[in-house]
Amino acid sequence: MTVFSDEAFCDHEQVVFVSDEASGLKALIAIHDTTLGPALGGCRMYPYADEEAALRDVLRLSRGMTYKAAAAGLELGGGKAVIIGDPRSQKTPALLQAMGRAVERLAGRYITAEDVGTTVADFAEMRKATHHVVGLPVELGGTGDPSPTTALGVFHGLSAAARHCWGAASLAGQHVAVQGLGNVGWHLCQLLHEAGASLTVADVHASRAAKAVATFAARAVAPEAIYAADADIFAPCAMGAVLNDVTVKQLRCGIVGGAANNQLAREDHGELLRSRGILYAPDFVINAGGMIRVASERDGYDQDLVGRGVEGIGRTLLTIFQSAEEAGVATHVAALQLAQARLGQARAAQAALAA
Ligand code: NAD
Repeated sequence: MTVFSDEAFCDHEQVVFVSDEASGLKALIAIHDTTLGPALGGCRMYPYADEEAALRDVLRLSRGMTYKAAAAGLELGGGKAVIIGDPRSQKTPALLQAMGRAVERLAGRYITAEDVGTTVADFAEMRKATHHVVGLPVELGGTGDPSPTTALGVFHGLSAAARHCWGAASLAGQHVAVQGLGNVGWHLCQLLHEAGASLTVADVHASRAAKAVATFAARAVAPEAIYAADADIFAPCAMGAVLNDVTVKQLRCGIVGGAANNQLAREDHGELLRSRGILYAPDFVINAGGMIRVASERDGYDQDLVGRGVEGIGRTLLTIFQSAEEAGVATHVAALQLAQARLGQARAAQAALAA
């Protein structure tokens, strides 16, 4: 793979290839942009098909974190790490500590956290070798699992989207199709159920879907049938690239918004959603709740402050929907413009200070 000219590279400040023979660690750390502050982003562990797939994933994810932090108004940059390996069979304390040492060598330019394939307990292990960890267990001074806060941010975001789209005062009576009933998807179902929404759900693990049927009176469908569910809202809370040439045509909803990162398979799928009259809540804006929460650990967790920040996701989305309409562009384009404007202002202020 050519790196500098690859579309995913996108002017990263730094990419680190990490290897530790003793523990078998092979990992990548990507720091996209530190204009607004140190790069914060999760550490994923996944059995990538090859190194190229791992590199592309870390680059795409870390760039997204820059925009997520900027749109959420955080004093943080964007970064991400991936460990190449199967979390079920290859994760050991030695490997996690070796990853911690790699993070420590970056001296605070990158702050790591939980992601797919890693748990808060893993970061207690990594913490033995680095100070630059957030999302730690409560007993270690952290705020624990960020997923309920991510779900709350998605809930506020969907409420804002329903207000913008239909003038709805709440999500009561709305029908939401939730894809993925993991940490975030499950909490989101709970919030939606409590708010009086009805649910259609899908998960590749049939037992999770069955539990949602029993707990939330949801209707379960097969994973491939969730896109065409007769719902008002589609909430992707599983994997990335789920909005693509095949699926966007199947959607019957008016709003798409959920926790998954990198939902658009390609940028033009955002335009396809717009042309079909579907309001898309850009992923990096609506799923920032967890980042807002773990970021707060650096200055001492303040529940009210975090609550206000997470509620702000709804207000930010309303601004984005409005400016997208005024400019006649897709919502993900307006969201990127908002994030880039904040980065541009910070760069200008830094240049003025240095002059
Ligand atoms: P998770 O691994 O706990 O849950 C994912 C769920 O999706 C699992 O139950 C899995 O079985 C299911 N799934 C996988 N493929 C599926 C498919 N094709 N159809 C239906 N279900 C499928 O992950 P999570 O922590 O809940 O995160 C969900 C998504 O949100 C991920 O993409 C993650 O990167 C993103 N995200 C999470 C957070 C957070 O705070 N956890 C924050 C921001 C973004």
